[in-house]
Order: sequence, then structure tokens, then C-alpha cells
Amino acid sequence: MTNNSLKRQQIISFVAIASTITACSISPQLGLNKPLSKSHIGQVQAHPAKSQINAQLPPVKVENPTFTVPAKFQGKTVYKMQPSNNEKVIALSIDDGPWPKTTLEMLDILKQNDVKVTFFWVGQALQANPDIAKREVAEGHAIGNHTWHHWYRQMDEATAKSEIDRTADLIYKTTGVKTALFRPPGGFLNNGLAAYAKSQKDAVIMWSLTSADTDPHAKPQAFVNNVLKGAKPGSIVLMHDGGGDRQRTVQALPQIISGLKQQGYRFVTIPELLKMAQ
Ligand SMILES: [Zn+2]
Repeated sequence: MTNNSLKRQQIISFVAIASTITACSISPQLGLNKPLSKSHIGQVQAHPAKSQINAQLPPVKVENPTFTVPAKFQGKTVYKMQPSNNEKVIALSIDDGPWPKTTLEMLDILKQNDVKVTFFWVGQALQANPDIAKREVAEGHAIGNHTWHHWYRQMDEATAKSEIDRTADLIYKTTGVKTALFRPPGGFLNNGLAAYAKSQKDAVIMWSLTSADTDPHAKPQAFVNNVLKGAKPGSIVLMHDGGGDRQRTVQALPQIISGLKQQGYRFVTIPELLKMAQ
């Protein structure tokens, strides 16, 4: 044991004794001549021993989150949620990243506004941008699986399995995250992907409200209007941070957040939303 760690333990022991005495309400007026009762002595002696054990334990390893879904949503398709008390909660979901520049700009906006969202990652994009992915997790956002190639076409089971499992493996290897949230590219539910995800007890997460931010001709204000006019308690909102130039979505995001806040909405991740269901 080094001198430093020995000193640290002594300090910890001293603090434990001092706090025990305070907790026992032994007032300073208690004269030195007056002996401590047996129960007080017992407590004073017990705490330093416990602290010494704690001081020798290795630091607690923080595990990255596992995004589970309640049993009733496992293997099911979800479009929105009905919060139990009709509370004004809403979940933003952001697809097709992680993506250079736009994801980082969105993360900055989300952080400034203390908003947590759910990102659905494409395996190929994750492979190209692992550090952006790590930041998303570190900043408390939820993560879902959005396949490896973002294919829309019909797939046999082996291909569907590969699209989803390969992405899940990379999500875990990159960030330590496991997720039971799956979103099929393009929202296609009949090309084999959703069937495989359901067989694995994932929840297939669709959306009830789209910003329509993939419209190449619309202005950012249109995305803002789409969301603010359509918002309802329990809505799942679709937006994109990758898969193309999403600068207009970045421009729309601050107004989407402030407008929803003005309407009285609180932002939750999709796992949080599912846990609030009736
Ligand atoms: Zn997508």
C-alpha cells in the first residue's frame, strides 16, 4: 500500500467517525469525562472498518445501457403510445446516422435544450463514424437498430438476419449498447426484416408523425410546421440526421423543440415512452 492510499484511508476513517458522531447527535456539550454509551461505541467502531473495506474495492464499472422494451411490446409493431394519464410527452426519433457534421450539430442543439431522443443507426454509417456514435450514447440518447445497408427490397431470412444481427453486433462492439428497438428502412414491414426482428422479440418501432424532412424541395419551416401541427401526446416523430444532406433538418430542430415546449410537451426517449404505456 502506498503512503498516499494509506493517508486516504485514514482520512476516510476519520470522516466516518466524525459523521457517525454527528449522526448519533452527540453534542459537543457531552463532556469528555462522560463515557460514550455502548451503542455509540459500537457504531463508531463499526463504520471505520466498513469504510476501509469500501476503500479497497475497485471503482464501479459503469455499464452502457441496454434498451429493453416491456414484455407486451416484444415482437410487436408500435406507431405511437397512449400515455396513461394523457400526459404531454413526445419522442423524437432520428434515423440513418451517425453522420458527420449534421449529427454533431444536432447533438449540440439537443444538449443545449436538455432533450433526449432516440437514434436509429445504420450499420454502415456506424462503422464509418464510431466516435459520433459514442458521443450519442454518452449524452444519454437511446439507440435503435436500422439495419446494415438500409435496403428496402424483399429479403430471405438469412439476409434479414444478417442485416439486423451484423448491425446489433457493431452497436455492441462500438458502444457496449444492446437494443431491442428495430426500425425497418422506409417503414417497409413486409420485406422480411420486421418478421426477423419480431422473431427475436425486438419491438418494431414505426412513427405516428413525420417531419417529412426527406422531401428534397421543402424548406426547414415546412418540417417545423409538420411536427408542430401534428403533435399529440405519445407521438413518435420521424426525422433524419444521415443518409443525405440533412442541413435543413438541423435548421428546423431548434424551432421544433421550442415549439413543442411551448405547447407543453416533455421529451422522452422511445424506451421511456413504452414504459409509460397503459
Ligand atoms: Zn432510414
